[in-house]
Amino acid sequence: MKSLHHENGQNGLSTPRIIPRDEHPISRQHISDAALKVLYRLDGAGFDAFLVGGCIRDSLLGKMPKDFDVATNATPEQVRELFRNSRLIGRRFRIVHVRFGREIIEVTTFRGKPEGDHADHIARQSDAGLLLRDNVWGSIAEDALRRDFTVNALYYSIADYSLHDFADGVHDIQARKLRLIGDPATRYREDPVRMLRAMRFAAKLDFTLDEATEAPIYELAPLLLQIPPARLFDEVLKLFMAGHGLMTFRLLSHYGLFGMLFPEAEEAMADDAWVEDMVEAALTNTDRRIADGRPVTPAFLLAAFLWAPVASRQAALENDGMPGVPAMQTAAQQVISRQLHHTSIPKRFGMPMRDIWGLQERLAKRQGKRAFQTREHPRFRAAYDLLLLREQAGESPPGLGEWWTAFQSADEHEQRRLLSKVGSDPASQGTRRKRRRRKPRPNAE
Ligand code: ATP
Ligand code: MG
Repeated sequence: MKSLHHENGQNGLSTPRIIPRDEHPISRQHISDAALKVLYRLDGAGFDAFLVGGCIRDSLLGKMPKDFDVATNATPEQVRELFRNSRLIGRRFRIVHVRFGREIIEVTTFRGKPEGDHADHIARQSDAGLLLRDNVWGSIAEDALRRDFTVNALYYSIADYSLHDFADGVHDIQARKLRLIGDPATRYREDPVRMLRAMRFAAKLDFTLDEATEAPIYELAPLLLQIPPARLFDEVLKLFMAGHGLMTFRLLSHYGLFGMLFPEAEEAMADDAWVEDMVEAALTNTDRRIADGRPVTPAFLLAAFLWAPVASRQAALENDGMPGVPAMQTAAQQVISRQLHHTSIPKRFGMPMRDIWGLQERLAKRQGKRAFQTREHPRFRAAYDLLLLREQAGESPPGLGEWWTAFQSADEHEQRRLLSKVGSDPASQGTRRKRRRRKPRPNAE
């Protein structure tokens, strides 16, 4: 692509720079058949149809797009009529999903300005500037300005295969910069999740945040506490289950955002140095599994994030005289209920998390038939993985993890030999927590 910079007209960003097909690298070969079908059918019915967002951004960076998003001037109802295989979703932000087998193409209608005298049911903003609903239709130029980052506001036209750049996104892609469109503080107040999106894209794309985009985050981070827990849970999955979890975590921590999602984990990290080591080890582990194409579950990662708060509550309850097992169940219950105020945790993850925690103590008790029973538990593997992380971080003394590593692959004879050693090994005395106070950070934000 040539000539990077583009002078915007008097009216701000509303005139796009149009980059013809022979001056950009995006080819139909890189676009899924499903996305092409949607684009051509909209075009054939007389509507404008563009690919927009992550798929264009990622293609320009030479990455495989994760999915394809379409923007059009057809209303959701008109899109519904064109595709039998489609459904309307969302209230806050109405869009249409068109399904082709396992692939879903997201079709959004151009959004206009939310201000003005529009009726409450199409656009609503709280007193604090939070956008509660955003369903005012508009032009493509208005739509571009409603998007978050300049690099996400590039449109690929199916009519002539040109690229429409409304906000200097091509320039920012080349400069590897994340820049919010418009006034950053206002855009974060409209939708605080944009702060999380900034972290996610910075980690995934290895981009830096533009100064003005970065500056308000430290102060506005607490706005995330207003976001419904279900939406934050979806975002948490995108943050940590996309292969760049460690980097994302470090960015979130740096900007004071991690504590808005997982306050108890954040507090535990401030108290004990091993906690952060363990969280980082869990993320490293998950990132590596994703890179290797192995399966990952959020339950394991969440169990690791919240292990320290669970363990310290359990210890406190035991100090007050409660036996170990109910103390663990109570601690798990309390930590999960507090977490639910911040991010939801669907039952299909909450149940395994409790199992993984509950198994930590059982892993130490191996006498008699216990080792064999624990080995058969459906969550044994995840619990064992968590134990390894705890040992690696220095929370529990080394030895037990190695014992289980040997036990799992041993034949019967060897297993009996391993069991005969259990009484004398220090790991069978239960876990001892190393309370290493965290060193104060040099310039903690
Ligand atoms: P990826 O799909 O790779 O995670 P993406 O940029 O496509 O990244 P999506 O969540 O699929 O992200 O959103 C598609 C597009 O919709 C974005 O590129 C952006 O233009 C716009 N968008 C999404 N969420 C927001 C938001 N919270 N505020 C403003 N615009 C948004
Ligand atoms: Mg997308």
